[in-house]
Amino acid sequence: MDLNQLTAHELLDKLKKGQAVSKNILDSLYARIQAIEPKVKAYARFKSDVKLSLNPQTSGLLTGLPITIKDNICTEGLNTECCSKILTNFRPPYDATVISKLKAAGSSIFPLKANMDEFAFGSSTENSYFGATHNPWDLECVPGGSSGGSAAAVASDEAIWALGSDTGGSIRQPASFCGVVGLKPTYGRVSRFGLIAFASSLDQIGPITKDVEDAAMLTRIISGYDPNDSTSVNQDVPDYTESLGSEIKGLKIGIPKEYFIEGMDAQVKSVIEEAINKLKSLGAVANQVTLPHTQYAVPVYYIIATAEASSNLARFDGVQYGYRAKSTSLIDMYKKTRAEGFGEEAKRRIILGTFALSHGYYDAYYLRALKVRTLIKNDFDTVFKDFDCIVAPTSPTPAFKIGERTQDPLKMYLSDIYTISVNLAGIPAISIPCGFTRNGLPVGLQIMAKPFNEEMLFRVAHAFEQNTEWHKIKPRL
Ligand code: GLN
Repeated sequence: MDLNQLTAHELLDKLKKGQAVSKNILDSLYARIQAIEPKVKAYARFKSDVKLSLNPQTSGLLTGLPITIKDNICTEGLNTECCSKILTNFRPPYDATVISKLKAAGSSIFPLKANMDEFAFGSSTENSYFGATHNPWDLECVPGGSSGGSAAAVASDEAIWALGSDTGGSIRQPASFCGVVGLKPTYGRVSRFGLIAFASSLDQIGPITKDVEDAAMLTRIISGYDPNDSTSVNQDVPDYTESLGSEIKGLKIGIPKEYFIEGMDAQVKSVIEEAINKLKSLGAVANQVTLPHTQYAVPVYYIIATAEASSNLARFDGVQYGYRAKSTSLIDMYKKTRAEGFGEEAKRRIILGTFALSHGYYDAYYLRALKVRTLIKNDFDTVFKDFDCIVAPTSPTPAFKIGERTQDPLKMYLSDIYTISVNLAGIPAISIPCGFTRNGLPVGLQIMAKPFNEEMLFRVAHAFEQNTEWHKIKPRL
């Protein structure tokens, strides 16, 4: 096996034993990228002459290992454009806290950023200013989104591992579509400092990896309190790798009946049912549960997320960052910059969000959405009184064809029906590979747990992974 195909923990083992050197890891990544990037387009600005800089000054757990970063996480001196024209050539003067933590652990930051939907608005990575990413399992399909570049890079071995961000499913859904592991941590677990905000009350950064052990290791490195993020929580970060390998005998698993609905793909359904049977065969006890407000999650999310996005995006006006349109006056400059700089989906969200926050509609839409958000959270609290975790599909369908949903935003918004409630409730959830459709497209199993109980996710996910082979199957490209 080539080095780029290995997991981070396998590579670290080899580095430690002197069986590999970091230069060979980089070379094998480069060879892979040169060969398949023109087909996959996982990176935002692929250049064949790109040079990878290591951080030789720090030595730590991750020394010698590169990591791929989504284009909305600030990397000092390295283009961070949210795959939007409006941030053209924006080079942050500082690192996001997660990047500082990675560098302190010795990791090198891959010089190309992963492709994404503009400002993380989307479920397919088709809304990128740099063009769509293709799914490594079927190049005619989307990789999911918005962290589709990160997921496709990891799935196709163009990256060892990656960071994405998840506001309504943007780590878990692409992980599911690409057959890799993706985790959205508890809200407040990972600092958002330096993550270019989409919806501040929902956004979290998290890992996209080839297996559960890598996800546990990476989550530990990026987690923790940060005085630069007032919403980060001051709570100890456990060594998540310690929760790997423990049994799941007797664990109580809730299966939400609202997640097995009409419109769900029949093959996805049977793959998920088999996965649940697998967990039962490992000793878990599964029972049906109810999350009665699930039906409101998508509308509530699209009010809250667009409201927050419209406010967060107000700062892009051509004055401080990125693109500035040629103009004759200040007001004209604002208008033209925003008209030319934002893509269609960003404009749709700014308009929706501004409407929901406007005088006269604020109470009718935004405030009501906040109230229903609390009901959605209460649903989870009730279930977690009696259950250790909740297991469900990550997405109602496998990866869909490029172009299939772009003309129908509502259909696109429904792609996240199973992932959005988790962000509204602030709880952690992981997606792991659990099988394939007859056409060879991956299916993801989602596991959800109580706030700050990422250990439960790793424990269940690892037990499943150790007893299945799905995560070992690679796309043929
Ligand atoms: N697909 C959802 C949206 O379009 C979620 C995106 C995300 O998590 N960043 O808003």
